[in-house]
Amino acid sequence: MWMRDVPLADLTRWKIGGPAPAYAKAGSEEELRTLLAQVSGEPVLVLGRGANVLISDAGPGAPVLQLEGEFAGHEVLEQTIRFGAGAQISTVVQTARRMGRSGLWILEAVPGTMGGALRMNAGTAEEGVWGRTLWAEAMWPDGTVKRLARGDVSPRYRGIDLDPQAVFLRGELDAPSGDPERIEQEHLSRREAKLRAQVYDLPTCGSTWKNPEPPGPSAWRLIDRVGMRGARRGGAQISEKHANFIVNLGGARAQDVVDLLVETRRRVLEETGIALEPEIQFWGFEEEVLRELGAVR
Ligand SMILES: Cc1cc2nc3c(=O)[nH]c(=O)nc-3n(C[C@H](O)[C@H](O)[C@H](O)COP(=O)(O)OP(=O)(O)OC[C@H]3O[C@@H](n4cnc5c(N)ncnc54)[C@H](O)[C@@H]3O)c2cc1C
Repeated sequence: MWMRDVPLADLTRWKIGGPAPAYAKAGSEEELRTLLAQVSGEPVLVLGRGANVLISDAGPGAPVLQLEGEFAGHEVLEQTIRFGAGAQISTVVQTARRMGRSGLWILEAVPGTMGGALRMNAGTAEEGVWGRTLWAEAMWPDGTVKRLARGDVSPRYRGIDLDPQAVFLRGELDAPSGDPERIEQEHLSRREAKLRAQVYDLPTCGSTWKNPEPPGPSAWRLIDRVGMRGARRGGAQISEKHANFIVNLGGARAQDVVDLLVETRRRVLEETGIALEPEIQFWGFEEEVLRELGAVR
């Protein structure tokens, strides 16, 4: 059932953003099909755990869906793990680690849902989740479901090529049994490295900018170079700990984050000639703002 004017900030990691004009939770494929039919063709936004989305202060300006129920589970099979797109990444990763299944350390300490991970091709700088995904199924606004393989979505660093209206439902990861001690070690060292270098104790959306193509300097170095580490606008601050993270110190508005992003991008471009590209997704912003942020070409 669609509900009107639903606050979204608390459904995001950043705790930022205005209300959705319409919001619903889908617990089954049938329910999702019905909900999509009810908005007949209107673009719908799917929210995972909001670990990679900045929602404007005015709200996303489109109906927002979240997955629950049958989409929240996962199942361990002989050499694979099958998951619903609403399953938490951390739960799937913990299962893999506990059961000695290899390969999923790349998602260690990555917040969010498996649907968000598929859409973002989440993982390390070198490898995304699609490198481990055997197939994923998605629903289109007319209710049809298609099974997609890696070759259908052309995965790249933090993204895939797929109709933005496709809603991931479920998928299956290649996760063969391996040496439990080595697997435990891979997970632990990845987790420790992330907790040491990144920010987990304040609301953030992880890395805000993609790293420029190697051998270019990483985004945090560029931000440092132009003196933006620690810069503050309203309740938002470029983290002192990791210059590619923006934290909400309390009461930050989307506009505060945008102001920091625009200034960072402008300074980096002026001083280094490199045009940063955002990793985070923007919901409910004007085309002109998106262009200033480098989110559209
Ligand atoms: C502290 C921290 C550390 C992080 N570290 C990493 C990291 O190491 N590697 C990395 O890659 N990312 C990292 N991230 C970013 C984030 O965790 C990932 O992008 C994650 O995949 C987002 O999942 P989500 O469910 O929260 O997606 P959301 O932020 O809710 O959505 C992201 C995008 O996915 C789409 N989406 C979500 N669910 C679906 C679905 N079912 N079907 C279709 N589209 C969908 C949304 O519409 C949106 O476009 C980090 C974030 C934080 C806060």
